[in-house]
Amino acid sequence: MPNQTEQANPFETAKRQVDIVADLLKLDNGMREILKHPKRELTVNFPVRMDNGDYRVYTGYRVQYNMARGPCKGGIRYHPNVSLDEVRALAAWMTWKCAVVNLPYGGAKGGIICDPKHMSKGELERLTRRFGSEIAPIIGPEMDIPAPDVYTDSQTMAWIMDTYSMLRGYSVPGVVTGKPISLGGSEGRGEATGRGCAYVIREAAPHAGVKVKGGTVAVQGFGNAGSIAAKILYDEQGAKIVAASDSQGGIYKADGMNPHAIEEHKTKTGSVVGFPGAKAITNEELLQTKADILVPAALENQITKKNADKIQAKIVAEAANGPTLPEADKILFEKKVVVLPDILANAGGVTVSYFEWAQDIQGYFWELGEVNSRLERVMTQSYAKVHEVAEKNKVHNRTAAYMVAVQRVADAIKIRGIYP
Ligand code: NAD
Repeated sequence: MPNQTEQANPFETAKRQVDIVADLLKLDNGMREILKHPKRELTVNFPVRMDNGDYRVYTGYRVQYNMARGPCKGGIRYHPNVSLDEVRALAAWMTWKCAVVNLPYGGAKGGIICDPKHMSKGELERLTRRFGSEIAPIIGPEMDIPAPDVYTDSQTMAWIMDTYSMLRGYSVPGVVTGKPISLGGSEGRGEATGRGCAYVIREAAPHAGVKVKGGTVAVQGFGNAGSIAAKILYDEQGAKIVAASDSQGGIYKADGMNPHAIEEHKTKTGSVVGFPGAKAITNEELLQTKADILVPAALENQITKKNADKIQAKIVAEAANGPTLPEADKILFEKKVVVLPDILANAGGVTVSYFEWAQDIQGYFWELGEVNSRLERVMTQSYAKVHEVAEKNKVHNRTAAYMVAVQRVADAIKIRGIYP
């Protein structure tokens, strides 16, 4: 089945995915139609005062795809290429990601067409606060909870939290997640994606004939998700990190490297390249490294029909969103490579966002150990469910993950019934 990385209109891809899964689940036409439409879309055009005194009008979107299972959840991205169809597709994928890990959430996404790299901090703050106030009528802890995405961060969330709170007249920390800890952020959120990915790898390993302890790992993209997955696999599961890369290039060492030392080197020099004792490799070579586990944690469209056949890993764990193209998926499945699809493998981030929201609305905060053990439970149970559906239906894990997710959303719609 296609995944989210096709070059075509992403929303057309997202709808096709629903059709394919709906066939497998034998959903009726009415249900398909509901699942292929975003519930609510808001487009806002709003002025922002620039540092030179001029005003510019920006366009932003918030799409709430489905809220049958609970309030909507999804990030806000700032990028020149944001479009309504991209936001719709991302909102659909958030719906499936939240459902596959069984969070009581629907999916949403937002974005502003802008070029944040060429805006000052003051301009970004005014842009964010005005957008926050424009979408305030449809967000809130019970309705839709935004989070950071491409080129937005904990500061962006702090501004939205403050703007929304000013409008309400009291502090509402649960309106967004990914906040600084001092404003009601959660312990463990920063490492949740990498940690969740490491838990899913641990659970899948026996089904792929891999022993993580002493097993070899290659990580493409030694950033937030990738470096943390590497550290947890190394520290807690005894894996050997034999290859790592970033946008500058890659490194390889057959008898393994300490990921903490790689990180130190990267902090000092700006890249993993030049790590003492390691051989330089290209990103293409990294993907084809002889390693038990490959963790693509950088960009989309990395595993294609051109290189899929050369992948030597027994497990491909998609920490990144959309690293594998549909044609490559097929090749990996035929080669019996166990692919852990993005909506499952990187769902640790949204899971701890859910914990953040739960802590905020209770006003009761958890220690790191509690956050991590709850995350472990969610990821373990979610993998088990996806694996069971994959085995039962003889489909690959990506299809199984979509089947689990779409069925859960369809069940919620059905049991609620259609109003009025
Ligand atoms: P990041 O910016 O911290 O890290 C990305 C890393 O990829 C950087 O080290 C960068 O140098 C490297 N990179 C860029 N181009 C590369 C290339 N051509 N080849 C190899 N490496 C390259 O970003 P992140 O937050 O770790 O996100 C990485 C991926 O994980 C994205 O697809 C993101 O959508 C996904 N993801 C992240 C989270 C999260 O909580 N951080 C959650 C869900 C999904």
